[in-house]
Amino acid sequence: MATPRTPRVPGTPRRRRAPDPRRVALQQRLRQQTRRVFIGDGPAVGVDIGGTKVAAGVVDGEGRVVAQLRRETPTTSPQGVEDTIAEVVEELAAHHDIVSVGIGAAGFVDAERANVLFAPHLAWRNEPLREAVERRVRTRLGRRVGRRTVVENDANAAAWAEYRFGAGRGESRLVCVTMGTGIGGGIVTQGRVVRGRYGIAGEFGHMIVVPGGHRCECGNRGCWEQYASGNALVREARELARSNSPVAHHLLDLAGGNPEAISGPMVTDAARAGDPAAVELFEDVGRWLGIGVANLAAALDPGTVVIGGGVSDADELLLGPCRDAYRRTLTGRGFRPELTIARASLGPAAGLVGAADLSRGWG
Ligand SMILES: [Zn+2]
Repeated sequence: MATPRTPRVPGTPRRRRAPDPRRVALQQRLRQQTRRVFIGDGPAVGVDIGGTKVAAGVVDGEGRVVAQLRRETPTTSPQGVEDTIAEVVEELAAHHDIVSVGIGAAGFVDAERANVLFAPHLAWRNEPLREAVERRVRTRLGRRVGRRTVVENDANAAAWAEYRFGAGRGESRLVCVTMGTGIGGGIVTQGRVVRGRYGIAGEFGHMIVVPGGHRCECGNRGCWEQYASGNALVREARELARSNSPVAHHLLDLAGGNPEAISGPMVTDAARAGDPAAVELFEDVGRWLGIGVANLAAALDPGTVVIGGGVSDADELLLGPCRDAYRRTLTGRGFRPELTIARASLGPAAGLVGAADLSRGWG
């Protein structure tokens, strides 16, 4: 039987329990963490800032790049790059009614997606990039655009693009490894980019796989990207050529006899043409890649690992040895399902497509 309520004396204030401040704080944090304001599928600008080039494009709701332009990265000064970003946004917005702007930057981006904490190839140290770009864009275009600007790590943006429109489509637990000069990493879990507590998750390239090994630009030794990247491929190819070994003669011919002129695409071309030395170089890099993928499987257990970046142009010359090494190294092999290793399908536009799409409020 329900307890009868004591009648309230007319005129006395209704008693209300004071809210528990810890509970209020927790609710606020939860709201912040899950806040997602989706602003529709309209065209968004994506900007991909590399060490030498700024690539920008208008991306529609299906992930298609409907307009694109490119500029040299004018200088490493933050102001110069920010001016260039504002210029390309202005140029693209002149012909498209854009809803938002996403900027992919090769560097550590904070969890608020506003500041670049550190970019090794650009002179950015604690740079408030979002605010700087929004201010410039607003000055140039009034209130039409710049309603929303987000800054993303470029590899996170590429991973998102592959998740939404590429080789990782529909995968609930996706890891993307972008092999360029170094390794960029991104994690997408159940429709969200995993950024970590401070925004820096997915820096797989700097996991140490060979203690005391090759020196890395980050200052440590033996980082994964020193063994499985474009830089690693070229370093090994040049070393082989310098050794004057007869097996390197084809690579040396391609480089006009100068070992230091050997480039990544040259090694790829030679391997495709069946040059045994170049094929072997890819086997080595692929093996290191597979070992790292097995480590990622132990830590994250993804269903698919998408391999992108310039080195992945070699396709099965790289992915074949990678799969073999993965299978040989995987913890619990034989007693667990194996993940799928797939080549990225969006090519070099992945970074700008992902940054544009994330700026709409996804991820
Ligand atoms: Zn490193």
